[in-house]
Amino acid sequence: MTDAVIQPTPASATPEGGHLLEVRDLHVEFRTHEGVAKVINGVSYHLDAGETLAVLGESGSGKSVTAQAIMGILDSPPAHIRSGQILYQGRDLLTQSEEQRRQVRGKEIAMIFQDALSALNPVFPVGWQIGETLRTREGMSRADARRRAIELMDLVKIPAAERRIGDYPHQFSGGMRQRVMIAMALALNPKVLIADEPTTALDVTVQAQIMDLLADLRQELGMAMILITHDLGVVAGVADRIAVMYAGRIVEHADVRSLYRAPAHPYTKGLLESIPRLDVKGQELATIKGLPPNLMRIPSGCPFHPRCPYVQQVCVDVVPHSLVLGDGRTSECHFAQEVLDDSAR
Ligand code: SF4
Repeated sequence: MTDAVIQPTPASATPEGGHLLEVRDLHVEFRTHEGVAKVINGVSYHLDAGETLAVLGESGSGKSVTAQAIMGILDSPPAHIRSGQILYQGRDLLTQSEEQRRQVRGKEIAMIFQDALSALNPVFPVGWQIGETLRTREGMSRADARRRAIELMDLVKIPAAERRIGDYPHQFSGGMRQRVMIAMALALNPKVLIADEPTTALDVTVQAQIMDLLADLRQELGMAMILITHDLGVVAGVADRIAVMYAGRIVEHADVRSLYRAPAHPYTKGLLESIPRLDVKGQELATIKGLPPNLMRIPSGCPFHPRCPYVQQVCVDVVPHSLVLGDGRTSECHFAQEVLDDSAR
């Protein structure tokens, strides 16, 4: 086993109010007729002004649920936040009234989703939809809101914005609709943008264009971003840090370069090995065996143990702590140092 330092509690690693946004030891469960699904099991992460954090994981890992908890848009019931804190500029959003949450939503923290078509209203022109928030939240006149909507469409690089402002969502391509949704999210100048699988529904070329746009906007506007994705391939050029989620836990957290160079958790290692590499001829792609766990019956000990090539008896018996490996990187694995050494070879 590794001799790395055991982190006492991830939540206490940062000073009070030290980050723009901080999720602390969040636990969320879904109570259904079939039983209780433990979807978030002690997630902690933070975001500083102007930086991009990628939150990576398979479907059902809890990455989107954490984002919905930040936004205050979890469906409750069945969702129930059991414990934890979500600090925005030092204030715990979970103790705020719905009216206070509404003030934060959109104006401080905005979110874009995977499926722009269902997020947009088919019966209103896109310009009207972009301007709606400005009219209702900022009290802007129709003419000013229209002017600002054109500026926002220019900002997200929709060609001929002035001519297209009256077009309806179905008249735009998938990539252009995603740009409309980004324009809507930026309307109130949020300090944080949460992008939940923003490119999943798009083809590869358009995916790259949207990722480039998000990277440019972050530079231009200086906002911080949480990029939620299942695709490790899309985060390399955009994110500063990556938090890898599995079964409602952060299993590895590192800066992008360190994580790509040598992952310290077998799950991240498996994800990296399953990305095709253009520089390797005849490469056989590895896959991670098995499926993500049923969150109503999470395996004992380390939740990844039924799929892990490094598994030993201690993994079945004991839940691993978060181990600090230097440079602020952490791994929730009993054998983190060994995995790291193995990856670096
Ligand atoms: Fe694998 Fe054990 Fe590490 Fe879990 S604790 S990831 S089962 S080696």
